[in-house]
Amino acid sequence: MKKIYLYGNWKMNMNQEETEGFYKDFGQQVVSSPALLGVMGKSLETAVFPPFTSLAAAEGASKNIDKRAVPFLGAQNTYFEAKGAFTGEVSISMLKNLGCTHVIIGHSERRTIFGESDDLIAKKVKACLDAALVPVFCFGETLAEREGNKTFDVVSRQLRAALSGRSPGEAEKIVYAYEPVWAIGTGKSATSDEAQEVCAHSKKLIRDLTGSAEMPVVVLYGGSVKPDNAKELLSMDAIDGALVGGASLKADSFLQIYKAYAGIE
Ligand code: PEP
Repeated sequence: MKKIYLYGNWKMNMNQEETEGFYKDFGQQVVSSPALLGVMGKSLETAVFPPFTSLAAAEGASKNIDKRAVPFLGAQNTYFEAKGAFTGEVSISMLKNLGCTHVIIGHSERRTIFGESDDLIAKKVKACLDAALVPVFCFGETLAEREGNKTFDVVSRQLRAALSGRSPGEAEKIVYAYEPVWAIGTGKSATSDEAQEVCAHSKKLIRDLTGSAEMPVVVLYGGSVKPDNAKELLSMDAIDGALVGGASLKADSFLQIYKAYAGIE
């Protein structure tokens, strides 16, 4: 069975107590299931992305559970400058200081609600790579773009912008997340064929852009992934895992996504 990446984007949810509760539940569920414990860190890689204010609680709580359960911690955003007069922003070194290994860059909510441009997002991707923080780079089309047959143009533009000037070695360190905007938080997932088509296109483009045909590329799908559609989506060969919003807020539903895929009771 292929390795699955299961990443949870908590968005603006989960205070410190709720974060500690999640880790406790998650740790208990993992250690009480030999089948799950056996795959943790091998065929299943998990990470959660709490809000900034819960990162320290998450880092602390992770030390009280089996370290294979949630080995990676990420933030939902960062700024590309190292320090200075950028009110409201959080730097990469601040995130690393809190134990972060990953950071989501270019989530559609950052692009659409907060006006983040391809150019700004590309600067953030570069800064993360320079600092050895894994960027989880999100891209995807809106409903109007899909209905206007612009999906491939849009995702290609977003990927080209993020990878401009990046070496094959750098491109390989990025985790890519195809998240069609119309599927995020709407309960309406892309079909497995729709997701497969764009993820396969993206993998090919990433390899073409870097000139490295054999480069391993990790592409997640995100957009209303739930236990009941997980098996179909995660079984597609161009999809390496899921970036999960709503269903990642409870340890049970988050783990059920992998269990449904792997056929674990
Ligand atoms: C997300 O926030 O990246 C996401 C995919 O959300 P949801 O799973 O709730 O659609």
